[in-house]
Amino acid sequence: MDLELQPLALPGIEPTRPIVIAGPCSAETEEQVMTTARQLAANGIKILRAGVWKPRTKPGGFEGNGWKALPWLQKVKEETGMLLATEVATPQHVEMALEAGIDILWVGARTTANPFAVQELADSLKGVDIPVLVKNPVNPDVELWIGALERINGAGVKRLGAIHRGFSSYDRKIYRNLPMWQIPIELNRRIPQLPLFCDPSHIGGRRDLIAPLCQQAMDLGMEGLIIESHCDPDSAWSDAKQQVTPDILSYILNLLVIRDESVTTENITELRKQIDSIDNDLIELLAKRMRVAREIGQYKKEHKMTVLQSKRYSEIIDKRGAQGALCGISPDCMNTIFEAIHEESVRQQMEILNT
Ligand code: PEP
Ligand code: MN
Repeated sequence: MDLELQPLALPGIEPTRPIVIAGPCSAETEEQVMTTARQLAANGIKILRAGVWKPRTKPGGFEGNGWKALPWLQKVKEETGMLLATEVATPQHVEMALEAGIDILWVGARTTANPFAVQELADSLKGVDIPVLVKNPVNPDVELWIGALERINGAGVKRLGAIHRGFSSYDRKIYRNLPMWQIPIELNRRIPQLPLFCDPSHIGGRRDLIAPLCQQAMDLGMEGLIIESHCDPDSAWSDAKQQVTPDILSYILNLLVIRDESVTTENITELRKQIDSIDNDLIELLAKRMRVAREIGQYKKEHKMTVLQSKRYSEIIDKRGAQGALCGISPDCMNTIFEAIHEESVRQQMEILNT
C-alpha cells in the first residue's frame, strides 16, 4: 500500500536538518518539566518531548503521571511557545493529549509491535490532522514498522514521520538497543518521502553514545533527532543513564557536522549509507570479539597461562590471510588487520591479568 503523505509542516519550525525534539524521558513534576523546558528553550530548542504515560518493561517502575502532567506541558507552551510532543498508546491517551493541545504524538516501540493496539490508535485518530511519529517496533521487522505507518495513514493522518530507536537483543552489547542501521535505511528506500528521526538516547542507553549516534544519523541523511534531556539527569525517575542536561545537549548539537546530501549524486549517497552501515556492523563485531577475548583472558588468569600463545597467533594470521585471498583481499591487508586486532586483544587481556 502506498502511503499518502504530506510534509510535517510544524508551525514555527524551519524544516532544516536536524529538526530537534528534546525533553525528559518522563514528566516527573511540574518543577522538573518547567526547569528543563526553560533551559531547553534558552538553548534554542523549539519542540519539547515528555513522557506522560510510560510503558515500562516491568511493573513497579515509574509509569508516568498520566493526565495530571498535561497541565505542566500546557504551561511550557504558554511560557516558552515550545511545541509539545508526547507518547500515546491507547485511544484514551489520544483523546486526552488532543484535548490538552499536544502538537505532535508519537507511538512507542512496544505499541508499534502490536497491530491491535496500533489499529485502535489509528481508529481514534480518524479525522484528526496532527503529526504522528511512529517509533520502530522493538523487534527488527521493517514490515511491522511500515504496517503501523500504513494503519495510521489509512485513518487519514498524512503528516507522518518515523523514529529509529534501535532494536532489542539478547546479547550483551555496547548499545541498549542495537541500531541495525540497515533497517531505517530500508524504510527510507521504501518510503523516501517519510521524514526519519533518530532517537540516540534509547539506542545508546548511555550519555557518551549520544553524540556519535546523532552524527551517524545526520550522516545517513535523517531529518531529525529526538533526544532525552533532563535538568538533573542523575536523579531522573526513568532512563537516568541516558539523559543529558540541556547545556550538554546544546554542546552536542553544535558539534554536529551537517553534510549537504545534494552535493553528491544519489547513487554515491546510497552506497555510502551502505558503507556506514557495514562499518557499524564491523565495530559491533569487533567489540563482541574483544568481549570474548577478555573472557579468555580471565580463563588464562585463572589457569596461570601466558597471554601470548604464539602457536594460536600464527594459526590466526595464516588462516585469515588465506581466507582473505579467496575473497580478493590481499594477504598483506589481512595481516595488518588481524595483527591490529590481535594486538588489541592482547592489550585487553594484559589488563585483566594485571588487575
Ligand atoms: C521513550 O521515548 O521514553 C520511550 C519509552 O521510548 P521507546 O518506545 O522507544 O522505548
Ligand atoms: Mn525514555
